[in-house]
Amino acid sequence: MSSTPATRRTFDRPQKVSEQSLWSDPQWQFDGLRPGLRLSQLRFDWDFQLPDGSCFTAPCWSQWLHDAQTFLWSLRVDPPRGRRRLRAHSLVTVGHKLRVLICWMADEGMRGFGTLDRENAQRFLSVVAERITVRGNAVTANTRHAYANVVAALWLQRHKLADPPPDDPFDGERASVFSGFCGLAAERWPFTPDAIAVPLISKAIRLIGQPADDLIALRDQAASLYEERRARGLTRPSVRQPVLKLISAFKFTCLDGEDAPWHPPIIGTKQVRFLVDRIYEACFVVISYLVGARVSEILALEADCIEQHRSADATETFAYLRGRIFKTAADDAGQPHLWAAPQAVVRAIEVLEHLSAPLRQQAGRSQLWLAMQGHGIIDTRPTDVMTSSTLVSRLNSYFAPFVALPTDSEGSAWRLTTHQGRKTFARFVGKRDRTGLHALQHHFGHVTRIMTDRAYVGTDFDLDELVDAQTLEETRSALEELLTASRLGGKAGRMLSSRSRFRGRTRDGELTSYVDFLIEESGMRLGVCDWGYCVYRAESAACMGDERGPNPLWRTESTCMSCANFAVTDRHRPVWQARLDRNLALVADDRLDASSIALARTRIAECERVLSDLSATGEARAEDDGRKST
Ligand code: SF4
Repeated sequence: MSSTPATRRTFDRPQKVSEQSLWSDPQWQFDGLRPGLRLSQLRFDWDFQLPDGSCFTAPCWSQWLHDAQTFLWSLRVDPPRGRRRLRAHSLVTVGHKLRVLICWMADEGMRGFGTLDRENAQRFLSVVAERITVRGNAVTANTRHAYANVVAALWLQRHKLADPPPDDPFDGERASVFSGFCGLAAERWPFTPDAIAVPLISKAIRLIGQPADDLIALRDQAASLYEERRARGLTRPSVRQPVLKLISAFKFTCLDGEDAPWHPPIIGTKQVRFLVDRIYEACFVVISYLVGARVSEILALEADCIEQHRSADATETFAYLRGRIFKTAADDAGQPHLWAAPQAVVRAIEVLEHLSAPLRQQAGRSQLWLAMQGHGIIDTRPTDVMTSSTLVSRLNSYFAPFVALPTDSEGSAWRLTTHQGRKTFARFVGKRDRTGLHALQHHFGHVTRIMTDRAYVGTDFDLDELVDAQTLEETRSALEELLTASRLGGKAGRMLSSRSRFRGRTRDGELTSYVDFLIEESGMRLGVCDWGYCVYRAESAACMGDERGPNPLWRTESTCMSCANFAVTDRHRPVWQARLDRNLALVADDRLDASSIALARTRIAECERVLSDLSATGEARAEDDGRKST
């Protein structure tokens, strides 16, 4: 074993690690239970078995056990500089990785962290990298990185250990160099690709409309008929038969614009419950993708959590979702927080309140995500808030097939996770070009308006960072596109096109450096503009935007066309072609009055100008611009 370093910092062992566990207990049961977590997720068992059949709590391992406990506890009370104190749940997760490391070391004949030199640490990480998951896949870079972080943390906390690792496992390099983890949030938490996210959210919004009302009505009628007949002391068949008859006779609504009911008739309480569960999942998708809250925050929501607040200019009222953030809070109770809530989220909460009402009453609790046991619509067994792993499993096994979720670009089923909603929300809010979002533009436009209102009270800095990272990424790629495109429309587009020395070139290192320079020097971010790019400068904003960005009230296609900040590329051509077609159809309609026809003609001229700019060669356009400017 290595000798103790001279700089070793003594570590005060607390007698108790929680309200329920002493340091000396073989199991540490931590405090911090919150909705969506189970006690077992806050428990770490030191009494695990090693490859030789002995338990880690046996006297022969006492010094190593003491170091392992000291290390784990130190991550909670005195973490390495720059790292957050770990919450109980994360501590247990690290404990599980530490257990894998200790078992591997013991199997290799090692007897303490003092033998975890650089070579052994890297051998261990190679073994982790070769592991196959229960699904038969290779472990992800994210998992490899989590193990590398545990090994790195052992080194960083070495001064607290009696028998510390002798070497820096990564020789001064970052752990990611060895784990292969590139550190981008995109790798750690992928967003849902647009081609999957847009139908996913749209179908979830559809389900929480009239379909949710249908199912709540059916469930309530069936449950109250069942209770009423059971209270009369009737036999089981006499209780069940009328309920089954009621369910099979129920007619689902025909939605606006559709010529058949949204669902065929169903048979039995299990099918009612199946559909009710899909509505719960639809509510999760809507809240997660349109609010950006973490799953822990969503599962902790309680009834009556919508608040209305006036905008800064007091001209309108915005809805907010009231909840708690746990991850970055100072204590286990979480930090109260308000998220901007578009109308679909207000509706999702209303639906959840109806769905959970009987369970809340039964349990005397206020959480919206209480889940009933069994497969029916009545169950008297205790109820609890569902866990995030249950939710992930239901989203993939039931919700995705139910809404016929499209496959990914390689034709494989896309795997949904609870974090994707938050990441995708940040991507959509940060998105400067929302032409691909179709009907969802409206929801994200609303959220953006709330988030840029001076009265906005959001303080989820992690989420703000995610949004800004997305905005930056999109600004960078749009600038590259604008500088290299050979055909551009809009005033800023024409100006950029005539001056760019990169025009018609492929993207290369010189262009990347130039774009980095533009962004760093000017702090430039694109403004949101759904029909082109807004190379935003407040002083020339025709929509009267301010330092926070364009003014959504005045931001229209016609205003942008007259604005010096506006640029259009080929990717926006379909928007302008569709606008042209719409207005050509209008002028052909002889029921229109003169002023409407004049307006349509103005729009036709704008569209033709953009489309001809996009079709013109650079020289032809330069000549054209020259003629107009004289
Ligand atoms: S009017 Fe100008 S500043 Fe406003 S959104 Fe359009 S291009 Fe941007």
